[in-house]
Amino acid sequence: MPPNMPEEMPAPPPPLDGELRFDQAARNGRADDFGHIVHQIPEGVLLPGSADDVARTIQWTAQRGRKFAPQGQRHSTFGRSQVPGGIVADMSTLRSIGAVDADRVVVEAGATWSNVLRATLAQGKTPPVLTDYLELSVGGTLIVGGVGGSTSAFGVQSDNVIDMEVVTGEGKKVTCSASSNAGLFNAVRAGLGQAGVITKATLKLVAAPESVRRYLLSYPDLAMMLRDERLLSADNRFDSVQGAIVAAPAGGFAFRLDAVKNFSGDPPDDSALLAGLSDDPAQRQPTTIGYFDYLNRFAAFEAILRANGQWFFPHPWLMTFIGDSQVESVVNAELDALNPAIDLGPFGQVALVPIRRSAISSPLLPMPADDLCYAFNLVRTPATSDASEANRLVDANKATYRRIKTAGGTLYPVSAIPMSKDEWRDHFGPAFSQLDAAKQQYDPDKILTPGYEIF
Ligand SMILES: Cc1cc2nc3c(=O)[nH]c(=O)nc-3n(C[C@H](O)[C@H](O)[C@H](O)COP(=O)(O)OP(=O)(O)OC[C@H]3O[C@@H](n4cnc5c(N)ncnc54)[C@H](O)[C@@H]3O)c2cc1C
Repeated sequence: MPPNMPEEMPAPPPPLDGELRFDQAARNGRADDFGHIVHQIPEGVLLPGSADDVARTIQWTAQRGRKFAPQGQRHSTFGRSQVPGGIVADMSTLRSIGAVDADRVVVEAGATWSNVLRATLAQGKTPPVLTDYLELSVGGTLIVGGVGGSTSAFGVQSDNVIDMEVVTGEGKKVTCSASSNAGLFNAVRAGLGQAGVITKATLKLVAAPESVRRYLLSYPDLAMMLRDERLLSADNRFDSVQGAIVAAPAGGFAFRLDAVKNFSGDPPDDSALLAGLSDDPAQRQPTTIGYFDYLNRFAAFEAILRANGQWFFPHPWLMTFIGDSQVESVVNAELDALNPAIDLGPFGQVALVPIRRSAISSPLLPMPADDLCYAFNLVRTPATSDASEANRLVDANKATYRRIKTAGGTLYPVSAIPMSKDEWRDHFGPAFSQLDAAKQQYDPDKILTPGYEIF
């Protein structure tokens, strides 16, 4: 009998390659995430030793009428990987990375993108799209999409997966791809964990550059920054363009683009890359850094937040997409309503990242109608652990999301925001029927990933 298993448990847990833990420390440890807003204590914690463990434990959990959710790195912000009184699986025990082929690599879903990238770079390869923070699990980002600086060119991470091994809500191991079990494949990619648990994924790879030339460009206002975002989205002269709006020391906001050109060998021509841009030339700061160091740039920020304690404070982030036709008026109105000191915090920022909708093919990631869209993210990092302040910002997220939706925008579901079943249905739009059909087929008893509260 596993240690600390409640004695009244009628059906004993199945034999496992890994371990099922019921002790208080393991359970409490899984009742938190990067949001630090929702805390739901599970009944037990699976440390899977194999995909079969995931399958057997889902079956056992279902027999007992409980729910089940995989946990990657628990960097979601609103309890999405938690299960009150159910079983959570710590997928980080399934993290092996296979041999790197010319155009692909097979990884277990609990691997972090940083470790995938280290392995592929050793062979001169890279996944085409990487999130701004690399310590997220492969499974955790494939089920939301996975947006990165190169999304405009290559789509989201879930557009760059060749096939997956998935354990369904009935505890069956199924392999799926665009040509085999395509319904499951399309319901799992950006499908918020509703149809299956990803245990393995074959990821696309492309040739990796050695270095990047990085330009931080400053603008006096939103209109000027947007002008260049449009220009650069049209001519693709950079490999990544990301906008950030931060509180200016003298009040108001500062507007910045982080534009990156990949290269190997000779560095690119600065003047050609910067020709015709409207930023302030006096503030340009071109630098050359290694490709991995550039992609891992969030690590330094993480170290600061860990050291000052803010990593462990609530993070009521809101992430959305807005179409180009509405972006200026919506963002200006939201900036007018923001008090950066308390609504964003000293390390917070507003991200505004141009994305070509046409690059995205995962059917369950709803985007605005315009081909040029922007990820508009309120990266709130309040300097307080006060729960009532976090709740105030969650309410503010809801109000902002409503305004964005009215303007034709969509939600990126990694946000800290409560959503009713009807709101989720509305969020997915016509694609909901596809998700619903997959749920009926692959998780008819609605065992999986209740934290999103969709079904
Ligand atoms: C600092 C930081 C930076 C971020 N930057 C970006 C970014 O640049 N781009 C971006 O797109 N997102 C970004 N995110 C959001 C992030 O991609 C999502 O929150 C993601 O879901 C977290 O992955 P995780 O491994 O921590 O998953 P968890 O938080 O553990 O889980 C998230 C959801 O995925 C499910 N899940 C986990 N593993 C699996 C699996 N194997 N199979 C099926 N379902 C699974 C869980 O049940 C849960 O519902 C960022 C988050 C943080 C905290």
